[in-house]
Amino acid sequence: MKKKGETKKISGEVKKPGINFIRNIIEKDLKTNAFAERKWTGSPAPASEFTNYTNIDSARIRTRFPPEPNGYLHLGHAKSICLNFGVAENYNGICHLRFDDTNPISEDDKYVKSILRSVKWLGFDWKRQLFFASDYFEYLYSFAILFIKNGDAFVDSMSFDEIKNYRGTLTTPGTDSPFRSRSVEENLDIFEKMRLGEFKDGSHVLRLKIDMKSPNINLRDPVIYRIRHEKHHKTGGKWCIYPMYDYTHCISDALENITHSLCTLEFEDHRVLYDWILTRLVNYKILEDPLPKQYEFSRLNLTHVVLSKRKLIQLVDEKHVDGWDDPRMPTLEGVKRRGYPPEGIKLFCEKIGVSKSDSLIDYTQLEDSVREILDQSCDRRFLILNPLKLIIENFPNDLEERCNATNHPKDSKKGEREILFTKEIWIEQTDFEKNPPKGFFRLYPGNKVRLKYGFIVECTGYDQDENGKIQKVFCRYFPESKSGISKSNTEKVKGNIHWLSSRHSIKCKVNLFDRLFLSADPLTKKDFLKELNPNSKTVKTALVEPSLINTPLGKQFQFERHGYFILDCFDEINNMPIFNRTVTLRDTWGKRSNETKGS
Ligand code: ATP
Ligand code: MG
Repeated sequence: MKKKGETKKISGEVKKPGINFIRNIIEKDLKTNAFAERKWTGSPAPASEFTNYTNIDSARIRTRFPPEPNGYLHLGHAKSICLNFGVAENYNGICHLRFDDTNPISEDDKYVKSILRSVKWLGFDWKRQLFFASDYFEYLYSFAILFIKNGDAFVDSMSFDEIKNYRGTLTTPGTDSPFRSRSVEENLDIFEKMRLGEFKDGSHVLRLKIDMKSPNINLRDPVIYRIRHEKHHKTGGKWCIYPMYDYTHCISDALENITHSLCTLEFEDHRVLYDWILTRLVNYKILEDPLPKQYEFSRLNLTHVVLSKRKLIQLVDEKHVDGWDDPRMPTLEGVKRRGYPPEGIKLFCEKIGVSKSDSLIDYTQLEDSVREILDQSCDRRFLILNPLKLIIENFPNDLEERCNATNHPKDSKKGEREILFTKEIWIEQTDFEKNPPKGFFRLYPGNKVRLKYGFIVECTGYDQDENGKIQKVFCRYFPESKSGISKSNTEKVKGNIHWLSSRHSIKCKVNLFDRLFLSADPLTKKDFLKELNPNSKTVKTALVEPSLINTPLGKQFQFERHGYFILDCFDEINNMPIFNRTVTLRDTWGKRSNETKGS
């Protein structure tokens, strides 16, 4: 599946679940009691909301999942959620859900709601540990004043472009800002006026005073506050200066007594800044050791999708998909509608493990985990995707023969259902060939097959139109051959096909999905939109067993030979249930043309 120009290794390897380098670190820390002495001792005194959890069980490990509410969660976030909540669960620790909401421009309450829904749907519980970085704005501001007072921060009044030009590059050092030597008094005065809203956006920023010559660009006097006259989804119009991510994140971790701050590899170079800020706060006697520690792991990259909020927003805004919860989307809202069970996603995350090496995981690995879960949980039913009429010549016109069909071949507790066998039935077009190729064991003139749970039939002929398209197939049945009942039912036939009574089947719509992108790694291409698969969705009218008419929304089935499906909604106008195919029974990527072509 790897194509030219795609550099990342596609991994099909399944690692031993459970053990990873993060868990090793945690186990070591638990052995050495590394966090046993943690408690808040700083000044200003902690707000009452912190004392709830900072003083109890301080030896416990604490992780956090810190989404920015500027989009919907995707499968990449699921990896982080499973890791953070997972290790907390494993080690009797606590995982916080903290919204990293420091940029009011792109953040919205609707994203907060959706993120809460998705974490819950995955099966994780933050209990009372739900926080917002914006709850700490007052702390962050008072700490910023301490940085200024200690000569560790200054107000810069250069423009955005000037700051950028002074920063230098990966190979050349930066240059000190002419405002770097402002007095503490002047800095305090301007910073207060920034807060009071006396300046326009972009006129001043607050920067840490670290080292413009540092080989690590993150240490070149990073900006920690900027002016934004914007309404914030939680604090409304209270603030017009907002703290930057790097400054906010480490302090939020420390305020919440996080022990292990797990993030993705792109933050590796930010770790020194994380430690620098917190160590300064220890020096100012605001925090005490042991401080939270940042550890990085590689992000999840999956073939044939994009896992970037910005790119996903583009797909929705430009209407390449039908919204955030389009079942083709790798968003958690999307895969939920697609029918991926949360247990399947968790199993997948466990199997791929956590490491520091960048890799591109084959999408089929996710599908395999989804199948593994659905195989156990789903009842079997019959669905005919491309119907062809089969007439049983020697079957009485009005007879309805009751047949017992097993709901689950590996779980007898799931019981049986009744399906009715009648003179006219539907079979799949692909189950009949007038000129069978070698090795074709299903219906063709003169051949016998078993109609699963029903009778053995022998093909006696067919009707075709002037183009040779098959209209009807004729056969005769053997009344003694009924499944499960007749003692003389010893005849073995090679073909075993599914069917539906034409009198008793009901119409439904099915959405069949394929890879969203043709390329395995679309973001490595010039224009990722050109890599979209034009056939990623096919809508068809099909037939199902009548019992499915009363199925509750969200119920999942295996439609035998076609895959796992979920009842998505009900088409009131055409009076038909609509099913989404979650996944086929086997990996058939690239070989799926036959079933979608039929009439
Ligand atoms: P995106 O790259 O999609 O914009 P983000 O990193 O900006 O995502 P955040 O809301 O900041 O999104 O992410 C919350 C947490 O999820 C972070 O700790 C981040 O490292 C983690 N995360 C995001 N994408 C992935 C991924 N593909 N694999 C693993 N973890 C991820
Ligand atoms: Mg982010």
